Amino acid sequence: MTNQSEVIDLAVSHFAKHGLVNYSFGFDRAVRRAGQCDFRARRITISKHLVATASLEDVEQVLLHEIAHALVGKDAGHSKIWREKARAIGYRFERVDWEQLASGAKHYLGSCPNGHSHLRVRKPKGARSCRKCADRFDDRYLIRWELVGPNQ
Ligand SMILES: [Zn+2]
Ligand SMILES: [Zn+2]
Repeated sequence: MTNQSEVIDLAVSHFAKHGLVNYSFGFDRAVRRAGQCDFRARRITISKHLVATASLEDVEQVLLHEIAHALVGKDAGHSKIWREKARAIGYRFERVDWEQLASGAKHYLGSCPNGHSHLRVRKPKGARSCRKCADRFDDRYLIRWELVGPNQ
């Protein structure tokens, strides 16, 4: 969970550091993506839901991903040119499910009797047992689901 003003400070300092001029920064309400670079509007936005869920370090990674897009331009897409720029400015290419983080305003946290946790965006239908406790369905290891996350 991160404070929006911390993210603004971070964006301003990265814009300056990487020479990104004529771009503005703000937040949006996206739940299917973590960040966006709007080339036409010359604006980078980060999902409010991501900010509410993720650490400042994770938000910074999304910011660097989008700044790299702004620096190399729309036509570069996720090509080698973009990847080199992204790496140069500190993007780490981590395998994070940003979409899930952005949608993390609400998710289901499940736990089995042995304390294993399971994260789902939607509540699974029907009874599920813990796969870490048993490979097959076993009603000794039923998962109990709870809706968690910030209420915004
Ligand atoms: Zn991208
Ligand atoms: Zn378990």
